[in-house]
Amino acid sequence: MRPLIAGNWKMHGSLLDSAALAEAVSAGAATAGPAAELLVCPPFPYIQPTAAALLGKGVAVGGQDCHAAAKGAHTGDVAAVMLRDVGATHVILGHSERRADHGETDAAVRAKAEAALAAGLTPIVCVGESEAQRLAGKAEAVVTGQLDGSLPEGFAAAGGVVAYEPVWAIGTGRTPTEAEIAAIHAAIRANLTAQFGAPGGGLRILYGGSVKPGNAKAILALPHVDGALVGGASLVAADFLAIAAAA
Ligand code: PGA
Repeated sequence: MRPLIAGNWKMHGSLLDSAALAEAVSAGAATAGPAAELLVCPPFPYIQPTAAALLGKGVAVGGQDCHAAAKGAHTGDVAAVMLRDVGATHVILGHSERRADHGETDAAVRAKAEAALAAGLTPIVCVGESEAQRLAGKAEAVVTGQLDGSLPEGFAAAGGVVAYEPVWAIGTGRTPTEAEIAAIHAAIRANLTAQFGAPGGGLRILYGGSVKPGNAKAILALPHVDGALVGGASLVAADFLAIAAAA
């Protein structure tokens, strides 16, 4: 399957920065013609201009969160249909920073994923263990438990994406070993086929957590690693494109 390289810009940059980054990514994508599908996920205010600038340029745009409802009295929140309306095609859900900062539970993530599917967005549902959970030998159980709780019916039919992001590897420069990544991705694949049958075998499983140009090739070559969710390195176009070229 064609790998997906997704950039999670988090809460970084300005309107000018996002325009320059989008321009550099699309220019690089046009010349390199990477085998990978590219996606960038800017902060909410920059989604519309980024999507407009990238229209027809082979780089998709996504949100970093959405509300579970389609509309209503939810001050400060953004609906999946609104993301779709301004040109997004994907939405990251259940990122560990949202689970930590906003107390998002598996049930909340699942409700958001349902809203994303209803709006025609591809959900990228994030799962991953803390360092304490890994040290306790619970990484696989935590991740499969999150998958059981967070993925809605219809997820596989709509081509939903799972991102495995060990919490302790995000923004730290540390990653699990290749064997550890491969083991969790195999467990995720088994969970997806158990939940959804054969279609679960065709869903993309991304790895995220300190993916850099220097480690991307080895990580992306592992079985059941179908792309990457990139934070810090996605803010530098050359690094993001180098990761895409490694796919
Ligand atoms: P990182 O972030 O690449 O900076 O570790 C990944 C993520 O949080 O999606």
